[in-house]
Amino acid sequence: MTLLIKDEYPEKLFREDGKRLDGRDLKELRPIKLEVGILNNADGSAYLEWGNNKIFAAVYGPREVHPHHLAKPDKGILRVFYRMATFSVFERKRPAPGRREKEISMIITDCLEPVLFLELYPGTSFEVFIDVLDADGGTRCASTTVAALALADAGIPMKSLVTSVAVGKIDGKIVVDLSGVEDKAGEADLPCAITWFNEEISLLQFDGDMDLNELDTFLKLAKDALKEIYEMQLNALKSKYITIQEKYNGGQVKQ
Ligand code: ADP
Repeated sequence: MTLLIKDEYPEKLFREDGKRLDGRDLKELRPIKLEVGILNNADGSAYLEWGNNKIFAAVYGPREVHPHHLAKPDKGILRVFYRMATFSVFERKRPAPGRREKEISMIITDCLEPVLFLELYPGTSFEVFIDVLDADGGTRCASTTVAALALADAGIPMKSLVTSVAVGKIDGKIVVDLSGVEDKAGEADLPCAITWFNEEISLLQFDGDMDLNELDTFLKLAKDALKEIYEMQLNALKSKYITIQEKYNGGQVKQ
């Protein structure tokens, strides 16, 4: 795991053999593991390991809105609570949610809202609790990806899944899925998310220096990576139901 303080950022983000410091190629994602339905007491849940990130998402809803004054008479509301555990980063993080966590919660809400049929659930809320246990760059993208799976696991009708990844620029080269050290020591970071039912970008943030002409290359790389992650999300959902089938069909699995 990369545990670096600011003064110790490496001067170069590529090795002699042209690979990134963690051995990846420019377009290579970190290893991703996704599981759904892992928490007993939530309506839906999912767990993700993405490189060194470890993140849980738990979903409740539709249910009564607390506090009541937040309820909307004509539609349901989506509330997302992104939190980083105090032990999730090298330096102890203050336990109270900070400005960054509130901002990321808002961003994830904006990414997920378009795929829900909130107008069908007036006066209710859908709540997504995201707990980052270990953080190493790209947690907003990883959280969006795992939260979409938890919503699907809760059986909430959705227009499609949502997938998110960051692309960026390090040592002058455009790369996919920045690690923590690449995020901090690189030149640019562009987290984006896609809603698959209409293939629209539902998140596009930008931090750093980038030539506007490079935007097309960034987005093309992002789209390829997003497709790869989407397949993993679908497989995670399918494997839950294959496990259930195996359990109730005495091992006879019909695919
Ligand atoms: P993201 O996790 O979406 O990339 P940021 O760009 O804000 O969001 O953060 C990059 C990385 O910096 C995080 O993934 C995490 O590893 C680290 N980080 C974020 N907040 C803190 C903090 N309060 N203390 C130490 N490290 C942090």
